[in-house]
Amino acid sequence: MKKRFGIDIDGTVTCPSSMIPYLNKAFNLNITLADIKQYDLTPLVDISEKEFAKWFKENEPVIYRESPLADGAKEILTKWRQDHELYFISARGSHLQQITEEWFLENALEFNHIELIGTHDKIRAAKKFEVDIFLEDKHDNAVMIHETCKIPVILFDTPYNRDPLPNGVIRVSSWQEAYKWVENWLK
Ligand SMILES: [Mg+2]
Repeated sequence: MKKRFGIDIDGTVTCPSSMIPYLNKAFNLNITLADIKQYDLTPLVDISEKEFAKWFKENEPVIYRESPLADGAKEILTKWRQDHELYFISARGSHLQQITEEWFLENALEFNHIELIGTHDKIRAAKKFEVDIFLEDKHDNAVMIHETCKIPVILFDTPYNRDPLPNGVIRVSSWQEAYKWVENWLK
């Protein structure tokens, strides 16, 4: 049966370490993904939240243009796209729509829809598009989407999302593992 997938972009379809080289260069750091223990990056840099937000806003376009795909994401999304609908739902701002669509095109990733909501509150979008399952890397989003929408949420394991999970949020360490879980769920 055809299902509609809600899929986060950054840290889910793109490699969760995409931003690290930019952070290291701009702030003279030497961090790796293992050092990112929480979603908020501000504590890692020695500037104010406001200054960091400004830097991020200025650098988002180039970071998103250059983001590498997560390992296995393309292969598995391409398989799912044959039988299902792929709705990408991201906290990126809507001014990044063109850059985002160009990235999908360049990476030969097909999509049914890309919704850039400009906020981390994905529940409204998940409800509006009536997605049947969600794929995320942000812990609180995953839990809230599962609890509010009553759908399974696949959480891609990263050092910044290792808090406990309710049943119904499934932690996976790779796209291959996500594929196995979802194929079983589809049966
Ligand atoms: Mg994300």
